[in-house]
Amino acid sequence: MSSGTLYIVSAPSGAGKTSLVKALIDAMPQVRVSVSHTTRAMRPGEVDGVNYHFVDRQHFAELLEHNDFLEHAEVFGNLYGTSQRALERTLAEGYDLILEIDWQGAQQVRRLMPQAKSVFILPPTQEALRQRLTNRGQDSEEIIERRMREAVSEMSHYVEYDYLVINDDFAHALDDLKAIFRANQLQQGAQQLRFGELLRQLLA
Ligand code: 5GP
Repeated sequence: MSSGTLYIVSAPSGAGKTSLVKALIDAMPQVRVSVSHTTRAMRPGEVDGVNYHFVDRQHFAELLEHNDFLEHAEVFGNLYGTSQRALERTLAEGYDLILEIDWQGAQQVRRLMPQAKSVFILPPTQEALRQRLTNRGQDSEEIIERRMREAVSEMSHYVEYDYLVINDDFAHALDDLKAIFRANQLQQGAQQLRFGELLRQLLA
């Protein structure tokens, strides 16, 4: 079986990244999403082991010390990290794997795995972003303002990414994401591995 492709997907908070990625993996069974470790508190509706592995700072430090993370970063005062072992296992099984990580993590992953493809998701306007952050109803006004500033800073890194998706219309943005994944799956090298027998027959 061929090894899957690693994808980095970044976006400012409130751009709709998590919903888009969820819809993408529901539509494409060969795509998986990596579950990060984080020290941030669980939000209502989140499930440990599904959205994140929720750990305390000491546990996170121990994992870091054991080199368990491919990358890690501090975002909004909380620590986040990607488990290297889970990543390698999923790719070796032939699945494409998405890392939903920030620009700092993306820079680390690009350095270690330059073959990774990266996608940046943008909101259609700053106002739409503010609206989405407000509608969540889970954060205070002060946190929303801070996240707006952080969002602008996060978005300034868009130039480092291979693909840009504007999430104006959800269905359209999802189509764009699917097109990126599908085009990569159709690359010659990957197709050669998938259709080796057919190619042998065609050239016989
Ligand atoms: P949230 O706490 O809202 O789920 O995520 C906050 C930010 O942390 C988002 O930009 C998200 O992409 C990023 N993030 C989530 N997991 C990881 C990770 O494992 N590594 C890095 N570097 N960033 C992460």
